[in-house]
Amino acid sequence: MTDPDFTALLEDYRSFERGVMRVMEKECTPHCSVCPTPCCRTAICREAAESPFLLAVHGSRQAFDEKTGYLGARGCKLGVGRPPICHAFLCHRIMDAQPDDQRRYALDVLGELVGYVGKKVWLKRHLVEALDDADLRKTDRDLFRRRISAAAAAFEILEAYFAGERDLAQADLQVLQVIRK
Ligand code: SF4
Ligand code: SF4
Repeated sequence: MTDPDFTALLEDYRSFERGVMRVMEKECTPHCSVCPTPCCRTAICREAAESPFLLAVHGSRQAFDEKTGYLGARGCKLGVGRPPICHAFLCHRIMDAQPDDQRRYALDVLGELVGYVGKKVWLKRHLVEALDDADLRKTDRDLFRRRISAAAAAFEILEAYFAGERDLAQADLQVLQVIRK
C-alpha cells in the first residue's frame, strides 16, 4: 500500500517491534538456544506469510518455506513482522527461571506489547486479521497511533527495568496495566 501516512505508521511499528525483540531476546536466548523442544511451528509462521499487515511490515524479504516456514538454522529469519503470538508465548522454562512474580509479570507484559498495538484497530478486530490492502485502508489510524504511544511508554519502563536501571513503582504498574486491559 503506497500511502505516506500508513507507511510512517508501519515504520514506527517496525522500530517498536525491533526494540521489544532486542530486550526479549536477551531474556529468552539463554533458554531458547539450548531448548530440546523448540516451539516454532510452520503453521504459526504462515500467519506472517498471509496477513497483509505482517507482509507490509516485513516486506517479504524472506521467502516462506512450506516445510520450515521462517525458521532458519539460527532461529527466526524475520527481523520484524512476526505474528504477535511469537512475541507473547513464554514457556514454563523461561517463566520458571524468573526470580520472582514481578519479573514474571514484567516479562509477560513485554511479550504482549506487540500484539497490543494492533488490537481492535481494524474494524474492532486485530490488524493481522485484515484480508487485503483494501482492508488495511480501513485501519483506525488514530487508534493505531495511540496504541503505539501507549505501548512505547510501557516499553520504556520495561526496557529500563530489564536493564536493572529501575524498579517498578506504582505509577509504572499503572502504565503497564493499560496493556493488560
Ligand atoms: S520459548 Fe521455550 S519452548 Fe520455545 S524455543 Fe524458547 S525455550 Fe524452547
Ligand atoms: S518466531 Fe519466526 S520461525 Fe518462529 S513461529 Fe514465529 S514466525 Fe515462525
